[in-house]
Amino acid sequence: MVITEQKKLEEILRFLEGCERVFLLGCGVCAATWGTGGEKETREMAARLAEAGKTCTGWVVTEEATCDVRTTRRLLKQHNAQVEAADALLVLSCGAGVQTVAALVDMPVYPALNTLFLARLQNLSVCDERCRLCGACILAETAAICPVTLCPKGLMNGPCGGYKDGKCEVDRERDCAWVAIYERMEALGWRERFLIIHEPKDWNAARHPGFINKREGAAAGGAR
Ligand code: SF4
Ligand code: SF4
Repeated sequence: MVITEQKKLEEILRFLEGCERVFLLGCGVCAATWGTGGEKETREMAARLAEAGKTCTGWVVTEEATCDVRTTRRLLKQHNAQVEAADALLVLSCGAGVQTVAALVDMPVYPALNTLFLARLQNLSVCDERCRLCGACILAETAAICPVTLCPKGLMNGPCGGYKDGKCEVDRERDCAWVAIYERMEALGWRERFLIIHEPKDWNAARHPGFINKREGAAAGGAR
């Protein structure tokens, strides 16, 4: 899940300066689940903007992910009159969703959220980052625990000399990723696998911006 947080109202009002009428669009997938941009939050944002003197021409929450061009285009068409009546669109989704909307309309589009990370959702209040989208997954070699993400140094071989009592030297509250990998490998009877030395990570697979056309084959790099 893509984790987001709401921006402070002052920041939103700063970039909405000069835009009196605003249409709001929330995301019914990640932002709704995490409680930053679903129906409740979009409705609340509309009320906060109204309190600040703005006119909300309407609001809607996507049923699919806002970053899905097909369904977001359809939704914007359905709400065309309310969108056209606005000076700007405020989007309560991750950055990909905001840019999806911006590519579909000829008017100012602003983000209501900060996009934080890709996470495992433990419950509706707790999540933890689990993947840095490195493009060349090494979980098969690390007992399905990601050191690229969970080790603050991103070490491919560990633990480093700083770990203590199973905790990370960068943050003593957190488990050392490499100790966790060792313990899981031991539990799985894979102790010898822990001794394998991994090559430094090749970050070429993590080039940005990513681009894939499944019909024409995968490609990476270059804005389209
Ligand atoms: S190795 Fe790379 S792709 Fe796999 S979980 Fe870690 S960051 Fe994500
Ligand atoms: S203590 Fe463990 S998790 Fe922390 S930086 Fe060292 S190897 Fe990485």
